[in-house]
Order: sequence, then structure tokens, then C-alpha cells
Amino acid sequence: MADEPGQKLDAPKIHPLDDPLQKRSAEKALIASTIGSDTVTDATTATTGERSVERVLSTIRLGQPTPAFEQDVQSALRSLPKQLKEALLPYQIYTSQIPEEFINECRNHPGVSIKEVEERNNVRGHFALTDTENHLQGFSEWHKNPTAGRLVHISEIANVRSTIFHEAEHALDAKLGHPSSNDPEFERRYQLGLARVRSQALTEDERNFISIFAPPKGSDEEEFNYSKSEAMAEFGAYFHTGSMGNRLIPAQRVLALFPELAQYVNQKVQAGEW
Ligand SMILES: [Zn+2]
Repeated sequence: MADEPGQKLDAPKIHPLDDPLQKRSAEKALIASTIGSDTVTDATTATTGERSVERVLSTIRLGQPTPAFEQDVQSALRSLPKQLKEALLPYQIYTSQIPEEFINECRNHPGVSIKEVEERNNVRGHFALTDTENHLQGFSEWHKNPTAGRLVHISEIANVRSTIFHEAEHALDAKLGHPSSNDPEFERRYQLGLARVRSQALTEDERNFISIFAPPKGSDEEEFNYSKSEAMAEFGAYFHTGSMGNRLIPAQRVLALFPELAQYVNQKVQAGEW
């Protein structure tokens, strides 16, 4: 799925994440050898020491993702609007051939719960994952899909560019204190959509499609917060790029079930807030 998890991994914050800037020189050599020197803009400004927005244009490559995939990710990152780039400033962004390479990399970050990452990755999403607690983001080109019994390429089920926007929206949601969980107007409009989902006869396929935004009755608060964050991320991606991250979900069908919320997210996007 284009969708991933982890906008909210509840791993205990044992240690602060090592400052990725400390690894920049080694990363630069790696990145320059794989995706070109234009993407290795130095991460700091000379005067303030703060990371520049250009920082988010760089990724660390794990395994052997194809140059075409790398290019798609890079172009999408470059095209993010200011508010999304700024939300990603603290993040270390990885691209990998398969998700396991990203999961292994997470073992090097002491605050990350690998179990959480693995579970989120298995259950929720196979190609993209954002850990807002530890400021890690990973995009994988392939996933071993147990149903298909083969490696599935991200482009089969996801729009790569929209997926990058979707994940950036999770980072922004966290940066803003999770308006998807805490903004009363977002909540009011989400509930209107949820009531619509529950009052309509949906096919099983449709219900599966929609389930990421509308969990079953009786789900706990964490599950609902997850779903609301998915709605913010996916609608945000749609209004930024014209398509949702997940190609298996008919965008118009989802928007028709949540028109009030979609309008609200669109207002925020147009205002440059989300
Ligand atoms: Zn998501």
C-alpha cells in the first residue's frame, strides 16, 4: 500500500536521535556516487547553523533502488511546497530497494522500536513509512507481497509523487501538533464523512478501500487518530498533486464520502498551511 504507517509510532523516547548532520560527509560521498552532486547541497547555512530547506532534497540510498525510482523521489521532494519541506527538515529520508533495508537501518537509531516499525510496515504499508517520533522516513521501490507471491513495484499500486506528499503531510501533521486529532473543525467534518460511510451500502472492496480512513466501530482512539491522520495525508496529497498516493483507492469515491473534510483540507492546502 502506498500508505504507511507510522505517523505515530509510540516507541518510548529513550534517546534523542543522533543528529544526522554528523554523518553528512559519509552520506555525501554515497549520494554523489548514486544520484548526482546536485542533490548533496550542504545541510547547514554558514551563518545560523540551521538546516536549509535544501536539506530535504537529499536522501540516503539503501540497497539497489533503480535510478528511475531515485529520480522520482528526488523530483517529488524538490516539488514540495515550503510548509512541507520545512516539516521535513529534521528528517533523515531513505530510499531503499526493499522495506527490510530501511527496517535494518532503523536499528542504528536508538530511539526506534523495531518491533513497531516492522508491525506498521507489515500491516499498513509496504512502500513508505514515516516515524515522526524519531524523524525517519523511508521509501522502498519494491515489496514482497504475500498475496501476489512476488515482488510488487511501488508504481503498481502507488503514485510515487503523491506518496512523497502523503508522507510529508504526516510530518507536517506532527509538527503542527496533530491537527488531524486535535482540530475541532477537522473532527466535525471527519465525523460527517464517517457517518456517511456507515450509512451507505458499500461493497466489500469499497469497504476495504475506505477502511484506512474509517476504522470499524469500537476501534480505539489510537486507531481513529491514525485514520484521521491518513485522511489528512491522503487528501493533502490529492490537493497538492491531483492524485492520491494509493492508486487502488478511487480518489473520487473517497472524496465523495468525505466532501466536508476534503473541502477543509483543500482550504488549508490553498492557504499554504498544509
Ligand atoms: Zn499515511
